Amino acid sequence: MCGVVGIFGNDYVAQEMYDALIALQHRGQDATGIITYDGNIFHLRKNLGLVRDVFHTRHMEKLKGYVAIGHTRYSTIGGGNVEDAQPFLAAAPYGMALAHNGNVFNSYDLKDELFKKDHRLVNSSCDAEIILHLLSKSLTRQLSKGGNDELSLDNIWDSVESVYKRARGAYSVVTYVAKQGMVAFRDPHGIRPLLFGKRQNGLTTDYIFASESIVLDVLGFEFVDDVGPGEAIFIDEKTREVHRKVVLQKTHTPCIFEYIYFARPDSVLNGISVYKAQIRMGEKLADKIKKEKLDIDIAMPVPDSARTATMAIADKLNLKYREGLVKNRYIGRTFIMPGQKIRKKSIRYKLNPMRMEIEGKKILLIDDSIVRGNTSKQIIQMVKDAGAKKVYLGIFSPPVMHPCLYGIDIPTNEELIASNHSVEDIRKFIGADSLTFLDVEDAMTACISGNPKVKDMCMACFDGVYKTGDIDDAVLAKNANARLMDKGGCDRIEDEMDSLPGEDMDKAQLNLV
Ligand code: AMP
Repeated sequence: MCGVVGIFGNDYVAQEMYDALIALQHRGQDATGIITYDGNIFHLRKNLGLVRDVFHTRHMEKLKGYVAIGHTRYSTIGGGNVEDAQPFLAAAPYGMALAHNGNVFNSYDLKDELFKKDHRLVNSSCDAEIILHLLSKSLTRQLSKGGNDELSLDNIWDSVESVYKRARGAYSVVTYVAKQGMVAFRDPHGIRPLLFGKRQNGLTTDYIFASESIVLDVLGFEFVDDVGPGEAIFIDEKTREVHRKVVLQKTHTPCIFEYIYFARPDSVLNGISVYKAQIRMGEKLADKIKKEKLDIDIAMPVPDSARTATMAIADKLNLKYREGLVKNRYIGRTFIMPGQKIRKKSIRYKLNPMRMEIEGKKILLIDDSIVRGNTSKQIIQMVKDAGAKKVYLGIFSPPVMHPCLYGIDIPTNEELIASNHSVEDIRKFIGADSLTFLDVEDAMTACISGNPKVKDMCMACFDGVYKTGDIDDAVLAKNANARLMDKGGCDRIEDEMDSLPGEDMDKAQLNLV
């Protein structure tokens, strides 16, 4: 999961891009980057770490230009090293920058293919590099075929289509071709979010693409529309006109996990308010818990993701809402030296229980999801150690039983506790006095209720139905293997690295800051 933003403005846009990335920090904390274009050259700064740690005044001063693409990275593909940080830049045609959110699950095959053709084109294990290459190759070929200097609309739509034909998975892409314009597109199923906005700036209009609506709110842009599934939007640099085309649409199935865990509650994605979806998920879970006739004193969220749903549950069950776990929001970076493994930190590092709210109480504890089960186990132990009489756990999503190949870091079947254990086994493992999950159907109805745009969602992590229709056991096995190679095979080194991909590019075109 990642956050992506593209701004097509008038003057210096790097500061606004910084603010946008701060607003999307929750979507990825592994790495971040900004690339700008000043009408002459690109300026790029990217590194591992949080936005506030990667960009300093000395970098911001150099990120000149009226166009910017920014990214916050949460690694699902790649080892999490600096060369996998986005945005990426290609030399052809005219220089082209790109960042995306999602996961191209056949990128390993496409990288192998590309490496065999020209090993210099593969500088990372990040799938954004593959999308960039597919696009830039197609655009360059079309330009030379037509003998033109400038891209036509058909060139752009055809090139996006060529990506759709090769790249399998979920991707919301923002790209900029020097002096031609900005192009944004979403995969044909619209799995990952991408919104389009505009703002009057003197006599001209600024445009923005972003993963969540909060970015538009923060920067004062007016929401125009969600980029549709299979739709590409082109902002022509010369005329500043906006062109839209649905290049290839299949069913629109946005990811349900955005509404459960990833997106901020104040965001509206695909016309669905994350906050309202969580309220409705809470209400549906409350209906289910009611039938269990539990003797409960208070409802308590695991902060921060379960607060909204817990409020709705407390209301519906006529319970007191109490905060008994306090989260430290300022957990810093873990510095590790090359060769060291990241030390496992206990949940106490993040959450502190308040004994006065917990002691002697029968608590309905609410959390968003159980993936491996370790977090719930530790939290329940902690709440019991603080004197709780009973801990009933309510999860406002269904059991996560299948890996995600569309960009959320939901691991292999072996690691997913619900993939090979019953609810009763999970309850025993985590040490809860009862355990209630939301039903799959209820989760979806809670999200799409009253929304005219979305009729179905991707819930592959819960029901194993992969909406792209091209994921079988062999693909899952290959993906599991690739994950092992990526994640197990390297340590994360959070020091500044000396080399960055693209350093061998024409220096006149790229300024690494
Ligand atoms: P665990 O069951 O120990 O794997 O942890 C589950 C908890 O991690 C959930 O309560 C979420 O708050 C959080 N979580 C869920 N999905 C993810 C994810 N893909 N990446 C990081 N954290 C997650």
